[in-house]
Amino acid sequence: MADKLSAVKGMNDILPAGVPRKDKLPDSGLWRWFERTVDDVLSRYGYQYLLTPMVEPTALFVRGIGQATDIVEKEMYSWTDSMNGDALTLRPEITAGIVRAMVEHNALYNGPLRVWSLGPVFRHERPQKGRYRQFFQLDVEALGCAGPDVDAELILMVRSLWQALGLVVGQHVRLELNCLGQPDERAAHRAALVAYFQQHVAQLDDDSQRRLHSNPLRILDTKNPAMQTLVEAAPKLVDHLGPASKAHLDAVCAVLDAAGLPYRINPRLVRGLDYYNLTVFEWVTDHLGSQGTVCGGGRYDGLFEQLGGKPTPAIGFGLGVERLLLLLQELQLPLPSSAPDAYAVVGEGVPLPTVLVALDALRAAGVSVLLHASGREGPGSLKSQFKKADASGARYALVFGADEMAAGQVAVKPLRDASAAQTLQPLAQPQAWAAGLRKP
Ligand code: ATP
Ligand code: MG
Repeated sequence: MADKLSAVKGMNDILPAGVPRKDKLPDSGLWRWFERTVDDVLSRYGYQYLLTPMVEPTALFVRGIGQATDIVEKEMYSWTDSMNGDALTLRPEITAGIVRAMVEHNALYNGPLRVWSLGPVFRHERPQKGRYRQFFQLDVEALGCAGPDVDAELILMVRSLWQALGLVVGQHVRLELNCLGQPDERAAHRAALVAYFQQHVAQLDDDSQRRLHSNPLRILDTKNPAMQTLVEAAPKLVDHLGPASKAHLDAVCAVLDAAGLPYRINPRLVRGLDYYNLTVFEWVTDHLGSQGTVCGGGRYDGLFEQLGGKPTPAIGFGLGVERLLLLLQELQLPLPSSAPDAYAVVGEGVPLPTVLVALDALRAAGVSVLLHASGREGPGSLKSQFKKADASGARYALVFGADEMAAGQVAVKPLRDASAAQTLQPLAQPQAWAAGLRKP
């Protein structure tokens, strides 16, 4: 036998429910349900779906995300195209690609556009629970919108998504908010920060000493416990915000207050990417250990220009799909089942064409039916078929026995409700009884 091959470290298979696996990753049924729920909620807010390539020019991310960020410094999968020498990168996030596409196609010609995408992104990180090298992001962007109304609407939309998924705000997830101001305000704050950290340079760890001049704001993002007191006492951006920035934040908060959505203003929330201004936010959970951020985003009014477009205000967020589904599993919330409505059990010598035609009629009437797949020797004993029917999670077994079939009937046997009786139904009129089999 040839050697077995394994998936690349940190890159996962998403498999059907019931396939045993060692990691706790979600099954594909849960995954698809998440996608359907997202589609449903986002379309109610006017967001449209789009797809951009997985591979982009490296320059897009260097210019868009920023040279001194973790992502560009050490997390990108980059290479040189052997045909033409182009510098290429597997996308580490989706926003930069979307902005590139909008500029390239002049997509905002007719005004603002709300879009979303969902797909894999790649980061060369140390794999652990909730942190992978390929993971999926739901990416949502409101493009061409400057006002705080859109910031607030975007955040409220995430709350709707939590509700649709069964997550309770305050109990399972909570909102953290900050205002990063405008570039000039950030420059003043940055100067104050550098001066402060220079005074305490001996207390900075290696990473932070390196960032002191390249990206001092990122020092505030440190996870090093030894530096927390130092960071706590550092100059705050809020003290450098002008009236317009403050008014923007206040307007967002006024909507959240009116909508009864609790939040915490976290002055240390700076986000890992360089392009943000004004509103930034994260949805965090305490139920996933240190990988607690499930969703993060903010406004990036300068990014279009940085990528060669016209000045265009915009705001968006990214949500980690694996982390979110891990959270749903962790909380043991009632999740939708991917079991079929019915399982077809087939008796010895029964004419297969009649069975398969009857099943197709049921499916046309909206019932999901799993056909017992027979081996070379036929369908096997009824007993073993009922075992399979039970294991499938189906609520009914459809028993195609020779006697019933001769009378033009099929027996419908409830599998989950011991008090319900078996019935006989006419094969020729599936519409008459199909509705009774469908999920409530
Ligand atoms: P973190 O601080 O956890 O590294 P981040 O700030 O790098 O997160 P973003 O770039 O904002 O993350 O990506 C959006 C979301 O994608 C995060 O909130 C998180 O849920 C998820 N995410 C980020 N990195 C990973 C990863 N390596 N594996 C799985 N999910 C991830
Ligand atoms: Mg990260």
